[in-house]
Amino acid sequence: MLNASTSHASTPSQRTPAPTPGYQPETQGVKTIRSIRGMNDILPPETSLWQYLEKQVASLLAEYGYREIRLPVIEHTELFQNSIGESTDIVEKEMYSFSDRNGDSLTLRPEGTASCVRALCQHHLAPALQKLWYQGPMFRHERPQHGRQRQFHQLGVEVFGVASAEVDAELLLLSARLWRRLGLEKRIQLQLNSLGDGESRQHYREALVSWLSAREAALDDDSRRRLRNNPLRILDSKNPQTQSLLEDAPVMADFLNEEAAAHFDRLREILDANGLVYTVNHRLVRGLDYYNRTVFEWVTEALGAQGTVCGGGRYDTLVQQFGGKATPAAGFAAGLERLVLLLQQLQQSPLEEPLADVYFTAVGDAARVCAITLAEAVRDQLDGYNILVNCEGGSFKSQLKKADKSGARLAVIIGEREVAARSAGIKPLRGESAEQFSVAQSELAARLQGLLA
Ligand code: ATP
Ligand code: MG
Repeated sequence: MLNASTSHASTPSQRTPAPTPGYQPETQGVKTIRSIRGMNDILPPETSLWQYLEKQVASLLAEYGYREIRLPVIEHTELFQNSIGESTDIVEKEMYSFSDRNGDSLTLRPEGTASCVRALCQHHLAPALQKLWYQGPMFRHERPQHGRQRQFHQLGVEVFGVASAEVDAELLLLSARLWRRLGLEKRIQLQLNSLGDGESRQHYREALVSWLSAREAALDDDSRRRLRNNPLRILDSKNPQTQSLLEDAPVMADFLNEEAAAHFDRLREILDANGLVYTVNHRLVRGLDYYNRTVFEWVTEALGAQGTVCGGGRYDTLVQQFGGKATPAAGFAAGLERLVLLLQQLQQSPLEEPLADVYFTAVGDAARVCAITLAEAVRDQLDGYNILVNCEGGSFKSQLKKADKSGARLAVIIGEREVAARSAGIKPLRGESAEQFSVAQSELAARLQGLLA
């Protein structure tokens, strides 16, 4: 085992020169290896919050008829280059790509839609209706900040095979319901836009490029570069000067063809009928190239600069682009770290669940064997309760302190006397009647069940 405390033992003179990132200075010949920057451990009790979130997600998606798909974490690099787009931030500077032992270029997935579409084509699942979700780690080489990691986790939800605005609306309604279930509905707001279809987008792009070209001198460097290779992304610029310039720029809404405009109207009609509040944001374009028609983001003001909790939209041409049958599609991805941060800001956090319901204490070698065996027998009969056995030893007094700290409602006490008499002590740890009493070992499970019910 590596001892973390050794990393603090160095004197100031030992601390220079600066250690290689990822390593602490050598102390007594032992190098303490640390996790990679931006790739964090999630420790208990925070893991309980993750499990709670994951459980809410899985049950809500089942209620809407979505099924889970599990995808590899590594894919061929070209999968992402071809889908996300060559001139996006992700492909240009955020991917973890490497050559494997065969010399193939592989990439740790930066998002899940590309893999999902690949799987759909590979297993001939299109163009039939598919309602899928997945969840897991994604990797992007970004500057780590509050709510921004290099390994982070996304929930992805994708629908294939239906082009209607009803699908877009359902994706938004189910995400709104998820925020409500989590108690986050007041903190997350919906922004909506339509990017139109291929032709209308082309017309808009031309109008935007000519408008911006006339003002090129006022653009930041990144935006000037994008003017040539990805002009719509300029709308997404974080540069305040560029943003204020864009206030008078042409908007996509004026360029939508009839079908795309009708699709957007229909979506808004369904959202309105359901009382789902949103803002139309004409500058919302999203970071990935594959979207058309509907795009949306769920945003929060509670996480500083990392304000987008969830983003998605329609991507009707991506499946075909991968060689599959023409299959309309829509979906979204939510950042689980950002949701966990929001949950942590809530007053009552579900973290406070006790570790144990019943805690076994035992003193003496024979008593400890007896306690483990009894606990196994109790677990056979009591489903859904947490049964802990003290394995550290020590006096009854110290073990009962640990029992109390575990949050258990009942302690079971086994000493030499109980072993000999085939009995067990039960001590209620919460409430008024804290008197210990004795039961036959053969009745222990039934008595515990009665007390816990
Ligand atoms: P951002 O603008 O914050 O970089 P993005 O547009 O790159 O987000 P998407 O590719 O749309 O993000 O991913 C969907 C969601 O995944 C985001 O809304 C966010 O909640 C989460 N996410 C993206 N990148 C990170 C990251 N590096 N760390 C934590 N969460 C992330
Ligand atoms: Mg990003």
